[in-house]
Amino acid sequence: MDAVDAAAALRMACAAAAGERPPMYTVAINPEKVMRARREPSLRPVLEGAGLRVPDGVGVVLASRLRGGRVRERVTGIDLMLAVAEEAARRGWPVYLLGAAPGVAERAADALVRRFPGLRVAGTGDGYFRGRDAEVCERVRRSGARVLFLALGSPAQEYWLSAHLAETGCRLGMGVGGSFDVLAGRTARAPAWMRRLGLEWLHRLLREPARYRRMLVLPVFLLLALAERRPAASRP
Ligand code: UDP
Repeated sequence: MDAVDAAAALRMACAAAAGERPPMYTVAINPEKVMRARREPSLRPVLEGAGLRVPDGVGVVLASRLRGGRVRERVTGIDLMLAVAEEAARRGWPVYLLGAAPGVAERAADALVRRFPGLRVAGTGDGYFRGRDAEVCERVRRSGARVLFLALGSPAQEYWLSAHLAETGCRLGMGVGGSFDVLAGRTARAPAWMRRLGLEWLHRLLREPARYRRMLVLPVFLLLALAERRPAASRP
């Protein structure tokens, strides 16, 4: 994991947005993505090509502990997005919100501007544009956006950022999953007490029971982490 805490993740993301390091995209790493990359060879270079991978979810934190790694806290995609939006408002970086159902990105943008007055929204668009990638990239490029928040779900957003970020002209692309739906008030985040206990996944499971299949990978993921455990002597 590149950034082991929220402050480091924000520093790296902002350095890209500011042009102090090459343009890059971020990926929120969770057990589902790691396991999928194991069976889908084309996904691996996409995750590895990210300039920043953040530990999104308690599963990744647990796995890091099992392996003797350094990750100690979650950095959820939506929290990093909010922190970047706050910095964008402060530093005048135009942002583009692309993804989710028609109308949702606009409402998410309004919510962001209410929260961070002065934030410049260069443009918005829904996430149902299959086959029109070139046109969408051109629209983002012409908007002058510096930061692209992309909410297409995973791993579609990761594939898209890896293939098209350069064409959009944005310096920072962030895959933010269902965050627009949360900001627009379409779906609720887990209550604070559940977040503190690392139970965001349980909240999601209760709300969308059909996701249980995706979550079945967690025990396997943790067992693999245990199997790949580094000997104590080689740990930092
Ligand atoms: N979505 C989209 N285009 C698509 C499929 C999905 O914009 O072709 C959006 C969908 O409306 C939702 C988000 O992608 O806002 C998926 O959110 P989810 O929380 O399911 O993301 P995941 O957990 O898969 O990363």
